Amino acid sequence: MRMKTKLIHGGVDGDPHTGAVNVPIYQVSTYKQEAVGKHKGYEYSRTGNPTRHAVEEYIADVEGGVRGFAFASGMAALSTIVSMYNTGDHFVVGDDVYGGTYRVLTKVFNRFGVDVTFVDTSKAEVVREAIGPKTKAVILESPSNPLLKVTDIAAVAEVTKEKGILLIVDNTFMTPYWQNPLQLGADIVFHSATKYLGGHSDVVAGLVAVKDAELGEQLHFVQNSIGAVLGPQDSYYLLRGMKTLGVRMEEHEANARRIAQWLSERSDIVSVYYPGLENHPGHDVAAKQARGFGGMISFDVGSRERAEQVLSRTKIFTLAESLGAVESLISVPAQMTHASIPAERRAELGITDGLVRISVGIEDVEDLIEELERALA
Ligand SMILES: *Cc1c(COP(=O)(O)O)cnc(C)c1O
Repeated sequence: MRMKTKLIHGGVDGDPHTGAVNVPIYQVSTYKQEAVGKHKGYEYSRTGNPTRHAVEEYIADVEGGVRGFAFASGMAALSTIVSMYNTGDHFVVGDDVYGGTYRVLTKVFNRFGVDVTFVDTSKAEVVREAIGPKTKAVILESPSNPLLKVTDIAAVAEVTKEKGILLIVDNTFMTPYWQNPLQLGADIVFHSATKYLGGHSDVVAGLVAVKDAELGEQLHFVQNSIGAVLGPQDSYYLLRGMKTLGVRMEEHEANARRIAQWLSERSDIVSVYYPGLENHPGHDVAAKQARGFGGMISFDVGSRERAEQVLSRTKIFTLAESLGAVESLISVPAQMTHASIPAERRAELGITDGLVRISVGIEDVEDLIEELERALA
């Protein structure tokens, strides 16, 4: 099955009990047992729920994994993954990962003795050097947020395999429609499904897929133990949103390519970050490992004042955190999504005060360009 077909028919195709063409919302916490331990596969909804099961099978299918998991948020997904590890374990993590990833690792899991080193994962040899005897996994995003830095996932996977550790990839920005990290050698892929997968700014959720059945067993044990699971209603919304992932991603990308090109031709923009642009340093790697470049663009307008001017003049581009929904969103990472990263560290990473990030929606691109033109004037 090709990806667009898989997105419609993947996972659990319909409801086996009634013939309903989609899986209904099983709004239920517990299940009748015929005798002690004799049941139809469900005992209690923290452990398993049919609607959640449908979205879990679905993410496993579209990511090319053997088992999927659905959580109450992307951070719940990551926190559950990290909870498989022990005090003293060490992770090598991308140096411009999502602000919440940085925060949970350095302000929560550090208290349990989990150690992290942040490196530029776009250089596989830098990743290799950062791996020590206690390192258990590498965690990365490609492209990263907000500078759209591209990591060669297969090159890092070679290093993690050689060292006998796991590669964990946050695939939120690309989605399984454009990129499948498990096929590039990663062991665990996770998503903030709040973004493109849900796609309509109405669900907070996290999804995970793993390549190995035993790892799947371990993760299910921790998922069930911690209990940060996705409820049946949100599982349903997520399934519904994901059916149109293919058509949405095509539109996001077509609009983003136009806007990135338009921005890069303007002399009043300091820099444009979009992997689809040929002069982007990660362009070739992105073109090799993914089928598309996505819908996220960052650009530097030169100063905080000018960034604020742009934000105050846009209407179709809604000022909001988050990304990946049908409506275009605009934000300033330094003051919003990345505010939890200390100012000196932001400066080191190049997340300047004039950096504006847009999540290009699926509106008519002419309206989007006209609006940006007015906002930048
Ligand atoms: C939003 C986001 C997260 C966190 O997901 P939540 O659903 O908000 O908990 C993690 N990684 C990336 C890349 C994100 O954009």
